[in-house]
Amino acid sequence: MTKIQQDLEDLTQKATSALIACEDAAALEAWRVAYIGRSGLIPGLLRNIKDLSDEEKRTVGSAANALKRELEEKYQEQLHVIEKGASTRGVQATNCKLQAGGGHLHPLTLTLNRVHEIFSAMGFIIADGPEVEEVKFNFDLLNTPAEHPARGAGDTFMVDPMSVNGAEDLVLRTQTSPMQIRSVAAMQLHPPFSVIAPGRVFRKEKVDATHESTFHQFEGLSISETTSIADFKSVIETFFSAFFHADVVIRLRPSYFPFVEPGFEVDMSCVFCKDGCRVCKHTKWIEVMGAGMVHPNVLKNMNIDPDKYQGYAFGGAIDRLAMIQYGINDIRLFWSGDVRFLRQFDRVIPAKAGIQVDPPSRRAGVDAGSSPA
Ligand SMILES: [Zn+2]
Repeated sequence: MTKIQQDLEDLTQKATSALIACEDAAALEAWRVAYIGRSGLIPGLLRNIKDLSDEEKRTVGSAANALKRELEEKYQEQLHVIEKGASTRGVQATNCKLQAGGGHLHPLTLTLNRVHEIFSAMGFIIADGPEVEEVKFNFDLLNTPAEHPARGAGDTFMVDPMSVNGAEDLVLRTQTSPMQIRSVAAMQLHPPFSVIAPGRVFRKEKVDATHESTFHQFEGLSISETTSIADFKSVIETFFSAFFHADVVIRLRPSYFPFVEPGFEVDMSCVFCKDGCRVCKHTKWIEVMGAGMVHPNVLKNMNIDPDKYQGYAFGGAIDRLAMIQYGINDIRLFWSGDVRFLRQFDRVIPAKAGIQVDPPSRRAGVDAGSSPA
């Protein structure tokens, strides 16, 4: 081996280990200048080839050129590694910053808090109950006939007994209405009383811009000796007026729900226009809930004497209220996890300082029946 071949071999080892040791862009640049730059060791060595014999020029020259190309490739690889590392560290730093910035309430939580606040102020007790519900509470005790289509597996999520230790006749509740029966029993309520029970419900809906298979309702129930439809109208007008900070009037349209008689759909006057707009579909009315006077059979199932007491029940959708309030046109956004959507609510001030999603002092009916599963 000639002197120059030996030098070439030593230089290869030295350059390679020095390159691997480069941890940042500055060190890598220094390496480039020292080894493969115009005045670097490799070009310097190539310049010395001119002093060799013709045969040595050929062998050593091609080996030196191959080494130069190899080192240039390794340099590019190392440059890529260092740049990628820098950008990854940048992302980590950004994440830390985001976490430090804290979060804010979800639009559905903001809406739910507002519903709690207004009904609490009107003397309603807040109750909570299970999402996995017995068929008895979801349908039977609510006067729902056996042949009612909502009871079928086509509309309702049935719970597989194998997944709940063999417990049968369980469903994911399709409505918050079971809380009518549960809250009265669990809190041992005697008329007069008023209860509000918000919560998550589940239906086999074809999901689109206005339908979700999981959404949120708030169930209301008010019973006394004299409670009338006029009382219901007054309470609900007060609620929507407070919720939308506007003078809202409501109208009732006849409808059918098994657990009320008579039943009605409730529309509120559009709070966005006087002569029709996109939100009210140019009708000046917005459909907001279903309601009715509690069916005597359901009162009996609450152990309340239907000859002595009467009252109203209603069910509204939190998601729908949030969509109307914030002008959201697609219900799927709530569960999308899209921070571009959620960040728009970071400046929304919670309804009232100190109001929580779940005020413990008001949860008189805490375990208004735990899930049987
Ligand atoms: Zn309108």
